[in-house]
Amino acid sequence: MSELLKVENLSKYFPVRGGLLRRARKQLKAVDDVSFSIARGRTLGLVGESGCGKSTLGRAIIRLLEPTAGTVALEGTRITELTRRELFERRRDMQIIFQDPYASLSPRRTVGQTLLEPLETHRMMTPARRRDWLLELLEIVGLREHILTRYPHEFSGGQRQRVGIARALTLKPKFIVADEAVSALDVSVQSQVLNLLRKLQREFGISFLFISHDLAVVQHISDEVGVMYLGKIVEMTSASRLFARPLHPYTEALMSAVPVPDPARKSSRIVLQGDVPSPIDPPGGCPFHTRCPRVMEVCRVTPPPTVNAGSTEAPHFVNCHLFPVPNTEEDV
Ligand code: SF4
Repeated sequence: MSELLKVENLSKYFPVRGGLLRRARKQLKAVDDVSFSIARGRTLGLVGESGCGKSTLGRAIIRLLEPTAGTVALEGTRITELTRRELFERRRDMQIIFQDPYASLSPRRTVGQTLLEPLETHRMMTPARRRDWLLELLEIVGLREHILTRYPHEFSGGQRQRVGIARALTLKPKFIVADEAVSALDVSVQSQVLNLLRKLQREFGISFLFISHDLAVVQHISDEVGVMYLGKIVEMTSASRLFARPLHPYTEALMSAVPVPDPARKSSRIVLQGDVPSPIDPPGGCPFHTRCPRVMEVCRVTPPPTVNAGSTEAPHFVNCHLFPVPNTEEDV
């Protein structure tokens, strides 16, 4: 499967200012040295508690936020090195669907104006072709033509999110960040929107970074899943593998909190002690050691390595001292 997006050692820090002169005294490490890739037409789910850096990572990848360090390449083009002008051209390939469609749609613009704007800004298609494409788009996302003259406040949450999805699709992108795209919707509407995203992926071969705090939703839609904690990815593998056998103690705790719809199965919830530490002053060693039920002495002082606990064909990356780096035979 060919690679579409490659993220290498990406970091995003925010200065924390203080004192009379408002000098930057510390840094908030929202995203810290993150690497992964997404193949064409695949979905990488990203999970973790709120404040772990998921949304910042999504925005830094498409440069809605400028990364502090690291590179992002889309089809081999280094997005992180593009000039503003070049980025504007390339942005049509990378779009975002926000959590709150109401906040992300202008209340003063009709749906037609909202959908036309990106096509006009990027000078894509003739005016007649634009109109045809908007009608096609509406059909794709399950909306009727008459909504083109309506305003966002006239719709339900599910309809508004369909408009948000249509807007993300207007420029025919190759990659979409879906940032908590179904979190604000009722469960029944959630599954309709998730099925719509799946359908779009099949038809147009779009790759998704699907950000959510909801493990059940991520399991439903993802091919691969990354688990984030304090700005770092602590575990990453295929969705089937992760949900069958989570390895990192943090992932185990997250999974144990998901309700099991089987009264015969006893719930064995792992309750994590304490709050997520501040990303301004993260703990040394393993950042999870202050809450980990399996903490060891080494965890308090030495950052764990990331190892492949799976195989070359079915990788399963985990960042934890419970999975030591395998010994390699020395060259003779
Ligand atoms: Fe827990 Fe140690 Fe593994 Fe961190 S490295 S997750 S503290 S066992």
